[in-house]
Amino acid sequence: MTTTRTDLKPLVTITGASSGIGAATAKAFSQAGHPLLLLARRIDRMQALDLPDGICKEVDVLDRQAIASAIQEAEAKFDPTEYFINNAGVMHNGDPITQDPEEWDRMIDVNLKGVMNGIHAVLPGMVERESGTIVNMGSIAGRKTFGTHSVYCGTKFGVHAITETIREEVSQKNVRLITMAPGMVGTELIETITDPAAKQGWLDYAESIGGPLVPEDIADAIVWVCQAPQRMCVHEMVICPTRQEP
Ligand code: NDP
Repeated sequence: MTTTRTDLKPLVTITGASSGIGAATAKAFSQAGHPLLLLARRIDRMQALDLPDGICKEVDVLDRQAIASAIQEAEAKFDPTEYFINNAGVMHNGDPITQDPEEWDRMIDVNLKGVMNGIHAVLPGMVERESGTIVNMGSIAGRKTFGTHSVYCGTKFGVHAITETIREEVSQKNVRLITMAPGMVGTELIETITDPAAKQGWLDYAESIGGPLVPEDIADAIVWVCQAPQRMCVHEMVICPTRQEP
């Protein structure tokens, strides 16, 4: 059956939709009947999801203008972004004594500036419409510290702080900001760790607790917090494997 604009639920925009939690979230919102704007650098991976009413754009979250243009195009076709899933991220764990500072720069750029760029693109419209939800991807590493995760923790603590601060600032405009804080989830994120010992440490701990969560676990929770009535705001949701201790 061909969908028409009036059949559709509100537009969902997702950054980092080419793999892992972002791709699973795209599928979950699609199944719930939402049109989608999917943003990441690997456009082929987003197109391969083959989701109906899905617009895929090759966008680096460091490029403010590219984010804005993609959103403008999608909103011209659908309605304004109601749910913005600010998910793109990288995790370059490593030994702070030997780690290449370029990896610190990259985490700060993608995990912090990228998140701010996403907020910048959608927040003014949401405030003006007095409606909308931004889900920022934090982490258990945004609440606790972990060895080899120093700068990653720094960025995720930052995401938690930014989300909660802006949540307070726009709450009277009926706009929700939510921090999603997963523990270990089996995704390609682990491939962004270039330090073999740090990567092995993550894998060994995951195995010792019976394995990480799957991306769909987090995707379902994201859909749930968004679909909760607008009067209700989940400030922060921490979701870990049951056997994950720290
Ligand atoms: P993946 O590596 O599978 O997904 C990361 C996504 O981010 C990819 O789609 C990637 O797309 C995108 N991305 C990275 N850099 C950029 C960029 N510069 N511009 C646009 N997109 C970018 O990992 P996850 O699904 O696990 O990660 C999603 C989020 O969840 C991240 O913020 C991560 O920190 C967070 N998280 C993950 C946990 C886990 O254990 N997996 C635990 C807690 C939080 P592309 O490369 O195509 O651009």
